Amino acid sequence: MEKVIIITGGSRGIGAATAYLAAEGGYAVCVNYLHNQEAAKKVVDEVEQLGSKAIAVSADVASETDVIALFNKVDEQLGTVTALVNNAGILEQQMWVENMDAARLHRIFATNIIGSFLCAREAIKRMSTKHGGVGGAIVNVSSGASRLGSPGEYVDYAASKGAIDTMTIGLAKEVAEVGIRVNAVRPGFIDTDIHASGGEPNRIEKVKEFIPMKRGGQAIEVAKAILWLLSDEASYTTGSFIDVTGGK
Ligand code: NAD
Repeated sequence: MEKVIIITGGSRGIGAATAYLAAEGGYAVCVNYLHNQEAAKKVVDEVEQLGSKAIAVSADVASETDVIALFNKVDEQLGTVTALVNNAGILEQQMWVENMDAARLHRIFATNIIGSFLCAREAIKRMSTKHGGVGGAIVNVSSGASRLGSPGEYVDYAASKGAIDTMTIGLAKEVAEVGIRVNAVRPGFIDTDIHASGGEPNRIEKVKEFIPMKRGGQAIEVAKAILWLLSDEASYTTGSFIDVTGGK
């Protein structure tokens, strides 16, 4: 059976690192992206060079129509999805809660939690043995922030990741008997472009003394945990979390 993976927000950072490892693991790869077609195409080219099939599909995960179209395209071009990585996520400028307006909260929750929920739903419909599927695995990319709360910075973001954790536990229990495992990784401070959206491109330099391992993480270190959770090595692991935080 062909292994087919969809990675949301896969054109850079943790998503792109996951695409490369998935290619090495024999998956056909769908790289979902929001706007940056060029970057997504580059990831596709590199995945193909590693010997796997790959496509880039533009979709806003917060849009139900886009998500349905994304999964339909994968059905047509790669085959039925067997692995989903809910990686797309956003962070906005650091801010105290009294300055956060409803529009910001809607944006954060729409991408981080509603987007992950919609993609999980489409994957489950296809994977469920109840509907003739062959099962599969989902990994949600949460954050160490779900435990820490990110006071004075991104309480909204941390809360959206807390919702991801709860969704992971609930879905894992709901779909365990139809052949689907659902787990999450909780990255700590990982060296990617997301910190620029928080207004602190050099964030890791600033915080590393507070990290027990005294360094930020690399995207590939998160990708390795994701690929393990997706693999048969994790066949009895569901509703679980791997913290990739250097001990923080
Ligand atoms: P990143 O900004 O490089 O990656 C996020 C990706 O999501 C981008 O490619 C972006 O275009 C995409 N995206 C955003 N909104 C989208 C939407 N509506 N539809 C589709 N794609 C969308 O940063 P990253 O660090 O690689 O982040 C990946 C995941 O890891 C995110 O969920 C993030 O919250 C989580 N995370 C990152 C860190 C870190 O320190 N880098 C820590 C904890 C959790």
